[in-house]
Amino acid sequence: MKVFYSDHFVLPLPEGHRFPMVKYSLLRERVAAAGICAPGEMRVPRPVSDEEILRVHERTYLRRVVEGTLTQKEIRRIGFPWSERMVERSKRASGGTLDACRAALEDGFSANLAGGTHHAFANQGEGYCVLNDSAIAARAMHAEGLARRVVVLDTDVHQGNGTAAILRADPSVFTFSIHGAKNFPFRKEESDIDVALPDGADDAAFLDALAGGLEEALEASKAELAIYLAGADPYEDDRLGRLCVTKEGLVERDRLVLESCRERGIPVAVTMAGGYARNVDDTVDIHCRSIQRAASLVNYKKAAGA
Ligand SMILES: [Zn+2]
Repeated sequence: MKVFYSDHFVLPLPEGHRFPMVKYSLLRERVAAAGICAPGEMRVPRPVSDEEILRVHERTYLRRVVEGTLTQKEIRRIGFPWSERMVERSKRASGGTLDACRAALEDGFSANLAGGTHHAFANQGEGYCVLNDSAIAARAMHAEGLARRVVVLDTDVHQGNGTAAILRADPSVFTFSIHGAKNFPFRKEESDIDVALPDGADDAAFLDALAGGLEEALEASKAELAIYLAGADPYEDDRLGRLCVTKEGLVERDRLVLESCRERGIPVAVTMAGGYARNVDDTVDIHCRSIQRAASLVNYKKAAGA
């Protein structure tokens, strides 16, 4: 399976910053060791172009991001200090989702070992998100005539508020978000389907709600491509999650999402989104299993076609 990584574009963070930047390189190492990529299938994405970004973001916002002229308030809202490397990293991470969409259309499944930056709005960043990779990739696929309709399946524990706001009036992209009702962002936007869970929701509650919403989203969207945000933060030991979903529950989530798409013939680009487990190895483990599940379906498809 083709996998795109951008972890060597490191964004410098001050000592003690709570964003687990290390998860990305650990994840690439785990994925490489898992042997799910043929030689040459682990690739560095190109950065997204201004043209691709401007299908989603306001020109003045992009200029201020690139030039480093965001206000202190805007920088605080993003949660990362500004640097040229932050800009490059954001463009590469979004490029990974775009490249993963292209690869998924060819192979059925693919993954970006970053992305899922769903809190970025057209005119502002938020919650460690500068550019909205899902919206950029979906609009690119549409503009290039590669997919008339795209569904964004966001299972990160935080609502995909930026994605919902950007794509709300766009009939070519269907947005689905399952998230903690009381968690960040505290002011929710309106996705095409929102499933809000109470604090402490366990595997049964999470999976039951997911199954119903997912079915509805896949039916209503008539999508030719899915972007799946496989956030690791619904996990019970996540510092920012507030839910009680186990690793086994998240494996079942991956199975449900990926196999439901496969049954309908919808290719899937998997992206990572959040993950803030007390032990970063748990976050990496959860992400790695999502990718392994997707890769097992690529092999299935190839075997079935042989
Ligand atoms: Zn999250």
